Amino acid sequence: MATCEKLPKCPFYQGKMSVESGLGKMYKTKYCEGDKTLCARYMISTKLGPQYVTDSIYPNMTDLANKMIAEAKK
Ligand code: SF4
Repeated sequence: MATCEKLPKCPFYQGKMSVESGLGKMYKTKYCEGDKTLCARYMISTKLGPQYVTDSIYPNMTDLANKMIAEAKK
């Protein structure tokens, strides 16, 4: 699986969380270098637009992502 193209610019890793330690590293392996389509941030960005991806959204918040996407379709 290809590395997420947003990784160099993803605000999640720009100051918020270290990409090389702890939780950040785990997310990076699972989502950014694993399956970006499972990343809540990626889902929201591609389905709704990057302006909806606030700093408080973590890659594992897929329930929230699905909810936001469902809401937007109403
Ligand atoms: S956190 Fe999500 S959007 Fe950001 S680089 Fe990783 S997979 Fe891509």
